[in-house]
Amino acid sequence: MKRTKILLVGAKGRMGQAISAATSTETDLVISALCDRGEPLEPAIRGCDVVIDFSQPDAVNELCRVCLQNGKPIVIGTTGHSTQQKEEIKKAATIVPIVFAPNFSVGVNALFWLTRKAAELLGPDFDLEVVEMHHRFKKDAPSGTAKKLAEILSEARKLDREKNVRHGREGNIGERPATEIGIHALRGGDMVGEHFVIFAGPGERLELAHKASSRATFALGALRAARWVVGKPAGLYTMEDVLGLSAAS
Ligand code: NAD
Repeated sequence: MKRTKILLVGAKGRMGQAISAATSTETDLVISALCDRGEPLEPAIRGCDVVIDFSQPDAVNELCRVCLQNGKPIVIGTTGHSTQQKEEIKKAATIVPIVFAPNFSVGVNALFWLTRKAAELLGPDFDLEVVEMHHRFKKDAPSGTAKKLAEILSEARKLDREKNVRHGREGNIGERPATEIGIHALRGGDMVGEHFVIFAGPGERLELAHKASSRATFALGALRAARWVVGKPAGLYTMEDVLGLSAAS
């Protein structure tokens, strides 16, 4: 059987190592080249079928440039991109297929779907709060997953996300506005990643929680995305597309 060849960017990192480990037991996939900071993507990219990136946001311009030049599909798991860097990804996705997801776990993508449903069902009487906790080495905050949860909540409640998201609270800030979406980022220890969405209403509270206990879950999701994206038309896809959740009502 012909194996799908992967160029892994950010290969020496925690996720890079998890992806190498997960690939070693797959019979249809192989890591054909590894790349980390300071190592060129050329010529390694030429022999691969798909590029998987779990590095840092500043890698993205070169990543997109080289993938476009060589017509390679990309799976981007890196989080914390600036608006300009996200624009770069969108532009590249007009030429090659890209799966760009803040979280590749099946459970978190189910959480995205459930969050949307709960926000629609519960309506404006429920206050919205997102809490995330990650290991002490994580560089960006809040997590890309928490940002995505806030995006889903603001869309479901038809709120302007920029105006209504509040990062933490301090001081004599007055009562909580009904339209506020609170985000709180906790850091410490070696926790892989936890996300909580809290819907606090009059006399009751609904909480959705996801707890990742191993990076293998993200790695397996990224491999699933890599298989899926090879041969797809150019476009910007999410993990919900890969899992077929976008079509679920
Ligand atoms: P890490 O710091 O352990 O590893 C990052 C690796 O990328 C390092 O080896 C670093 O040297 C390398 N790197 C940095 N800049 C580079 C560049 N320009 N080119 C090539 N390599 C470069 O971090 P991590 O915990 O492995 O996480 C990596 C990224 O993946 C982070 O943005 C994190 O938030 C994200 N992440 C996403 C998911 C998901 O499911 N989407 C899950 C976990 C982590």
